[in-house]
Amino acid sequence: MTGGVMTGDVMTDGVMTDGVMTKVETIRCPNCGKPAERHYLLRQGLGPTQLVQTQCAACDYLLISCSETGRVLEAYAPGIAAHNI
Ligand SMILES: [Zn+2]
Repeated sequence: MTGGVMTGDVMTDGVMTDGVMTKVETIRCPNCGKPAERHYLLRQGLGPTQLVQTQCAACDYLLISCSETGRVLEAYAPGIAAHNI
């Protein structure tokens, strides 16, 4: 027990970058069911507007939506997008 050295927690409970607070949560991919990441982007100074970005490295699923209005800003899912082209 020497102390004196601050080692941060392993948890990524919020990182502030250029006025944007980012929180990362591990969820299950709604497309393939594998572990995926959900990023919460809280923009300071822009009221309650919060973007939620869900991304899956296993199947390239991507969904960006606004948690305030529920509007989907960007979405991509393999198999779904291909049919619309
Ligand atoms: Zn997936």
